[in-house]
Amino acid sequence: MGRLAGRAVLVTGGSRGIGRSCVELAAAEGARVAFTYRANTAAAEATTAAVRATGVECLALQADGTDRSQVQAAVQAVVEAFDRIDVLINNAGIIRDQLMVAMEPDDWDAVLATNLGGTFHFTQEVAQPMMLQKAGRIINLSSAAATQGGRGQANYAASKAAIEAFTRACAVELAPKGITVNAVAPGLIETDMSREVRSLAGDRIREEIALRRFGMPEEVARVVLFLASDEATYITGQVIHVDGGLRL
Ligand code: NAD
Repeated sequence: MGRLAGRAVLVTGGSRGIGRSCVELAAAEGARVAFTYRANTAAAEATTAAVRATGVECLALQADGTDRSQVQAAVQAVVEAFDRIDVLINNAGIIRDQLMVAMEPDDWDAVLATNLGGTFHFTQEVAQPMMLQKAGRIINLSSAAATQGGRGQANYAASKAAIEAFTRACAVELAPKGITVNAVAPGLIETDMSREVRSLAGDRIREEIALRRFGMPEEVARVVLFLASDEATYITGQVIHVDGGLRL
């Protein structure tokens, strides 16, 4: 029996990267897993097949986190399929890097709408069933960018700092309902999102990481799943940094 045996878990943006690792590790811990994806059906099918091959239920739901009606439909589908929802992992996120003075307003809006807006929409939609259950775990993906200035990431940094503030506010509101809300802030992790920055400035950035290497998606997912497990019953409103000692 795994640490999440029988739990119903929803991961946003689960078809690749850190989200996919969360899906696979949750399934390996015995959870029934659903994940959302925006457009890449082939990647979603690959994730679903990998999980089902291990004999675990897995549901792929096409839903854009910026569209409230799609979010609502996805959460409803999870509750219908699994009868409950125990864990929400708000993982979906994007970057649109550009120096602030040259940043297109559309790129500001898209990053805030996806990262912060999507986190809000999913959190609000799962809060209802979790409150009825009097139990739930919500884990939001933040970033080292929330607390450390980085060139070209004004929109992304603002969205992630807001997610950390949102995490604390929700933790206070939802604690009386038996729901914990925490965040995980990764440093530089080897996924598609960080490919460009790793190829342009990888060596310089590695020098700023105490462990002198980038992180792997599963090293983040393991911490996310710890927060979803019974080992983390007394933790709420916290941000856990998983960054190999970035800029210590
Ligand atoms: P990724 O680009 O590999 O995957 C992101 C996922 O989010 C994709 O599956 C994508 O389809 C999905 N997504 C994006 N916009 C969406 C939308 N509107 N609706 C639904 N799904 C959407 O990125 P990743 O590196 O795996 O990042 C996962 C999370 O971790 C993000 O929130 C990111 O900000 C955060 N993070 C990543 C790093 C890193 O170095 N990779 C560092 C810090 C934080």
